[in-house]
Amino acid sequence: MMLLKKENTEFFNELMIIKEKALENHIPIIMDDTLEVISKILIKEKPKKILEIGTAVGYSALCFLEYLQEGGSIDTIERDEERIEEAKKNFAKIGVKDKIHLYEGDAVEILPTLNEKYDIVFIDAAKGKYPFFLDQALRMLKDRGVIIADNVLYKGYVMSDYNKHKQRTAVRNLREYIARVNEDANLDTEILEVGDGLAVSYKK
Ligand code: SAH
Ligand code: MG
Repeated sequence: MMLLKKENTEFFNELMIIKEKALENHIPIIMDDTLEVISKILIKEKPKKILEIGTAVGYSALCFLEYLQEGGSIDTIERDEERIEEAKKNFAKIGVKDKIHLYEGDAVEILPTLNEKYDIVFIDAAKGKYPFFLDQALRMLKDRGVIIADNVLYKGYVMSDYNKHKQRTAVRNLREYIARVNEDANLDTEILEVGDGLAVSYKK
């Protein structure tokens, strides 16, 4: 049986179990306030196809499901084997295998092989790769589509003069991401201080 809507108690209970387990295992799932912002965008956009980069155990993908148009689907990419197994179990448990396609492997290799068009691209993976993910997202984004990138402020490092951190490559690439989405004349971008920082870019 397929359980979709949050008002469906069984679906909601399963989702909460997945969330609790992920938090216990220190998996960096989407934060509640970030999810709230994204949900509002999805309600307005009514996406048919979502691309997610960074599945982890599937929590965010499962949260996005209820906002899909009838017949819509989510493609999501994960490279960590343990998380892939957990995500597969979670998708099977909720009975949504046909709505979520999990690509197993490095997004840097998988993205260039995709040729779909997406209404929403959600970037939530290796911070050092955000400029590359942006190129790929732009290539596959529909007109009036939205690119949403999580963790763009990275604990405040990105907007401070913090340069000596061991994560400086990530910081540099996140800064490049923000500069590019702000400067791109085809995008309308807002950087929101929600969660770990969320960049929302609307394609004009
Ligand atoms: N979107 C998830 C959380 C993702 S955490 C949620 O909110 O529920 C980020 C995930 O991205 C991690 O599981 C990590 O293994 C994965 N990841 C990081 N870089 C990646 C890459 N280059 N290709 C594929 N997966 C990647
Ligand atoms: Mg995140």
